[in-house]
Amino acid sequence: MLKNKKKHVFSIDVEDWYQGIELPFNDWTKYEKRVEYGMKKLLKLMTKNNVKSTCFILGKVAEEHPQLVKEISKAGHEVASHGFSHEKIYDLTPKVFREQLHRSVGYLEDLTGEKVIGHRAPYFSITKDSLWALDILAEEGILYDSSIHPVFNYRYGIPGANRLASIIETEIGIKLLEIPVSTYPLRKVNLPVGGGAYLRIYPYFFLKKCLRTLEKKGETIGIYVHPWELDPEHPKITLPFRVSATHYLNLRSTEKKVDSLLSDFNFAPYKVVFKELLKGIR
Ligand SMILES: [Zn+2]
Repeated sequence: MLKNKKKHVFSIDVEDWYQGIELPFNDWTKYEKRVEYGMKKLLKLMTKNNVKSTCFILGKVAEEHPQLVKEISKAGHEVASHGFSHEKIYDLTPKVFREQLHRSVGYLEDLTGEKVIGHRAPYFSITKDSLWALDILAEEGILYDSSIHPVFNYRYGIPGANRLASIIETEIGIKLLEIPVSTYPLRKVNLPVGGGAYLRIYPYFFLKKCLRTLEKKGETIGIYVHPWELDPEHPKITLPFRVSATHYLNLRSTEKKVDSLLSDFNFAPYKVVFKELLKGIR
């Protein structure tokens, strides 16, 4: 079947399996590094389906795997920032957030020779308690952000936030384009359909139906995955139930679902899909 020509965004939060499950940063050295395994699977799937993505890369990953960052960039994917230490932004001070953003963007720009203009917070942690981060992002030269999730979740979300891309004027008067990942509006809540655990929980036919409906309404779909979601053999460790309940769920289903998504929909990087809106930013 021919794909609809409308271009959507496919993104990867490039972090290792132990970096997004609330383990202390100082303990990360204890765990087996496997980010390259899952990332290379994703690179292959994207090549096979002729898809270019945006990779929100964690600064710590860039520090430890510089060749991987170069490989991602050389393959034509957009490189953007996922912060440095994967702590929730509302747990950081503005000063530490700025330092970590600076460090992460510095690594990425040195490795790729390209300006970083996009950011996604760890755990979508720009909430009502950390809206100050938008000012810092804008001040540091970031043009678009994809961190506000208009859903209810124990860890993140601003349920009433705009579901679609919108220009935010920050407190200091600098503009930033906020681009949430996809949600499906139900009567009272928004159903997350953009990726992560939900991609693994829903049967593919259901996910595809929701996304097609959004596409028919003219919306740009935003999908995200992590390299470890394509690495079902990564170590199983004991975690608090609220974390383990989603982290290890249905990992074997991810690869096939991502392959189907990349084949059924048309994707390009954020900086390409939102080019016109980004022109209105600065
Ligand atoms: Zn993350």
